Amino acid sequence: MLRRDVQVTGTEKETAFDLLIIGAGPAGLAAGIYAARSGLKAVIIDKGAAGGQVLAIPAVENYPGFPKIAGWELAEKLAAHARNYVPIKEGEEVKAIHTGEIITVVTDRDRYTARALLFATGAGPRQLGVPGEAAFSGRGVSYCAVCDGFFFKNKTVIVVGGGNAALTDALYLKSLGCEVTLIHRRDEFRAEHHLKEAVKREAIPVLWNSVVEEIRGDEAVTGVLVKNLKEGTTREIRTDGVFIAIGEKPNTELAAGIGVALADGFIVVDRSGRTNIPRVYAAGDVTGGVRQIVTAVSEGATAALAAFTDLTKPYWSPQQ
Ligand code: NAP
Repeated sequence: MLRRDVQVTGTEKETAFDLLIIGAGPAGLAAGIYAARSGLKAVIIDKGAAGGQVLAIPAVENYPGFPKIAGWELAEKLAAHARNYVPIKEGEEVKAIHTGEIITVVTDRDRYTARALLFATGAGPRQLGVPGEAAFSGRGVSYCAVCDGFFFKNKTVIVVGGGNAALTDALYLKSLGCEVTLIHRRDEFRAEHHLKEAVKREAIPVLWNSVVEEIRGDEAVTGVLVKNLKEGTTREIRTDGVFIAIGEKPNTELAAGIGVALADGFIVVDRSGRTNIPRVYAAGDVTGGVRQIVTAVSEGATAALAAFTDLTKPYWSPQQ
C-alpha cells in the first residue's frame, strides 16, 4: 500500500504523497487520473486555475470526441474528471523544491513530501518585446482573446502571429464583431489548413511580411507602428487592441532549479516522460513537441504510469 500518513508539524501541515504533480493543465490532470487509478497517492498543485492554457482557447475543434467545444468547457470537464481521483490545489504556488530520496515541495501555503515529482508546468505567452507592449499590457495589449475579447466587441483589433493560436484568436474576435487585421512576419501562415481556409472565408485582412515595431497610445492603445519587411516602409495603423499570439515560452524555472536537463528551453524527457533525475518526470507543453491538448493528456498518462512502474516495480517492469 502506497498511502502515507498526513503529519502535522507545528502549524504547518506536511502531507506525504507518492506523486506530486505541478500544473493542472491537460497533462497534469491526465497524470492525476492515471496515477490515482494505478494506486498512487497523488496531488496536483497549480498556481492558477485547473485547465491551464486550454481555458484561453476560444474553440477547440481537434480534441477527439469533441467536434467543437469551448476551451473553458473542455477544461472544466477535464478538471471535474480528475477531481474524482485526486485533490487539485488551485491558486497555490510552488516556491521551492528539495530533491533527495524523499522530495520536498514548499508552496505559499503548505509543505509536501513525495517519492516522485511530475512537471506539467506548461508554457506561457511569448512576448514581442517592442516599446509600448509592457506599458499597455491590460490597456489594449492582450495575450488572451477569450479573456479580453469581450471588451473589444465591435472595435478595431490586430492579431499578431501566424500559427494556430493567432488564427483561432482572429476568428474568435471576428465572431465577436471586431474589425480584425492579422499581422504576420512572413508571407505564409504556419497554421493548419482548416484555419487558413476559415480566415480566407471570413475575409480577415492580413498584413504579410510585417512586424509590429511599437505599440502606441495614451490612456489605452490607439495604434501600432508596423514595418513592412519587404518594402522597408513603416506606417502607423489605428487600433483599439493588440492581441499577441506568437507562441509560447515553457515554464521551466522550477525544473531547471533542481537540475532537470533542458534542450532549446524545453525539458528533455525519454519516451516515458522520465527526465535526467530519477523519479522526476515531465509531460505536456513544457517538454515541447507538437503541443496539442491530445498529446499533453497522453504524455501526462504515460509519465504517471512511468512513475507507478518506478515506484512499485511491478512484475512487468523491465527492472525486475
Ligand atoms: P506557433 O505555432 O509556434 O506559432 C507562432 C507564430 O508566431 C508563428 O507564425 C511565428 O512566425 C510567429 N512569431 C513567433 N515569434 C514572433 C515574433 N517575435 N514576432 C512576430 N511573430 C512571431 O505558436 P501558437 O500558434 O501559439 O501555437 C502553439 C502550439 O499550440 C502549437 O503547437 C499549436 O499547434 C497549438 N495550438 C493549437 C491550436 C489548434 O489546434 N486549434 C490552437 C492554438 C494553439 P513564423 O511562422 O514566421 O515562425
